[in-house]
Amino acid sequence: MKAGEPILIVGAGLSGAVIGRELAQAGCKVEIVDARSHIGGNCHTERDAATGVMVHVYGPHVFHTDDAEVWSYVNGFATFLPYRNRVKTTVGGKVYSLPVNLHTINQFFGRSLRPDEARAFIEEQADRTIADPRTFEEQALRFVGRALYEAFFKGYTQKQWGCSPTELPASILKRLPVRFNYDDNYFFHAHQGIPEDGYSAMIARILDHPDITVTLGTDFRRGQGAGFAHVFHSGPLDGYFDYARGRLGYRTLDFERFTHEGDYQGCAVMNYGDLAVPHTRITEHKHFAPWEEHAGSVCYREFSRACEPGDIPYYPIRLVEEKAQLADYIALAQRERGVTFVGRLGTYRYLDMDVTIREALDTARLFLDRRAAEAAMPSFLKPPI
Ligand code: FAD
Ligand code: UDP
Repeated sequence: MKAGEPILIVGAGLSGAVIGRELAQAGCKVEIVDARSHIGGNCHTERDAATGVMVHVYGPHVFHTDDAEVWSYVNGFATFLPYRNRVKTTVGGKVYSLPVNLHTINQFFGRSLRPDEARAFIEEQADRTIADPRTFEEQALRFVGRALYEAFFKGYTQKQWGCSPTELPASILKRLPVRFNYDDNYFFHAHQGIPEDGYSAMIARILDHPDITVTLGTDFRRGQGAGFAHVFHSGPLDGYFDYARGRLGYRTLDFERFTHEGDYQGCAVMNYGDLAVPHTRITEHKHFAPWEEHAGSVCYREFSRACEPGDIPYYPIRLVEEKAQLADYIALAQRERGVTFVGRLGTYRYLDMDVTIREALDTARLFLDRRAAEAAMPSFLKPPI
């Protein structure tokens, strides 16, 4: 890399903002471009003019982490207010508590079991012939049994991923706990909260540095990195290479927005487990800010479908076929000099916000260390980075 030239970052989401800030603080000039008309990437929030509700424009975002450094980092840029994600699900016209906990078990089976009784009861339901669950369905049958699986997971997962749970890896379900007490906190991390004035305000503060410039409405194409010391690319990996090895599979989401006077559903997230109900969930955004009061309400009815050209890619599919295709793109990326692929789209992985920030901090620090090492080397030894 050439000293003195600015760094280009593609994408003003969390990945781009955090990398940009670390590099600017270390003395680099940073230019960030984003194709959209706003910063924040998929974490973008904005207040609805009519109701005053803070809307999570690309779907609901709850910050949760066990990473103490990342928690301290985000608290340096925003006031995080306590928030507990308590998700409900509607199945067969009845409302149940999630994640599956003692309340769900007692509600569903019409019992009043105590923790040890419920554990033994579910163990009886579980399919113990499955020693090493590999698919989503096997994982569910092994840990909660057929009745709970068919009610809460089978239909929802079919709608969310557009395929049978027998075709999906067990790892997707492993993210959800099963509890034998009344703890209905959806997450189990030490820190959980939502920024008081939304994620976009937090990301604007991360970007607020005299050596960072942000240009919106600018679509970066391969080859436009000339004149920059290095490019960090948080846009889609396949898009960068003009889909030379085909399109990596994603699920996209359609949000059907509606407003309501008063309280529509009494909670932030209501899932719908039945296959016959076409949407996966309804989110009511004002409940993500319980410290605010609004007479009106903004809700999103969420539908999942295959991502087509022109749609926003949300969830990477990562089945066998996509993994083979991804390996081809990784080989191309490794041959590309002067570009680092970062973030959820650049690395084709589902990344929670805390993991995104952790990886962005580590990437920026590694880059700075390598640059310092390169600067200290005699010129004939310098490897290109
Ligand atoms: P992005 O936010 O996607 O940002 C990438 C940016 O790059 C975008 O602004 C895009 O416009 C821009 N870009 C792309 N290509 C180009 C180009 N060629 N030229 C210029 N600009 C370009 N995480 C949690 O921790 N908690 C949650 O509750 C949570 N909920 C989620 C809900 C949904 C529905 C989804 C899909 C994700 C959720 N996440 C959640 C994950 C979170 O959204 C990601 O961690 C985060 O958005 C990753 O940031 P990023 O900067 O890598 O990517
Ligand atoms: N899931 C389900 N029923 C639910 C909620 C989740 O079957 O009511 C499954 C679904 O396959 C989903 C996975 O569990 O993709 C992980 O759930 P999570 O809520 O973590 O999904 P995400 O935040 O990715 O939407």
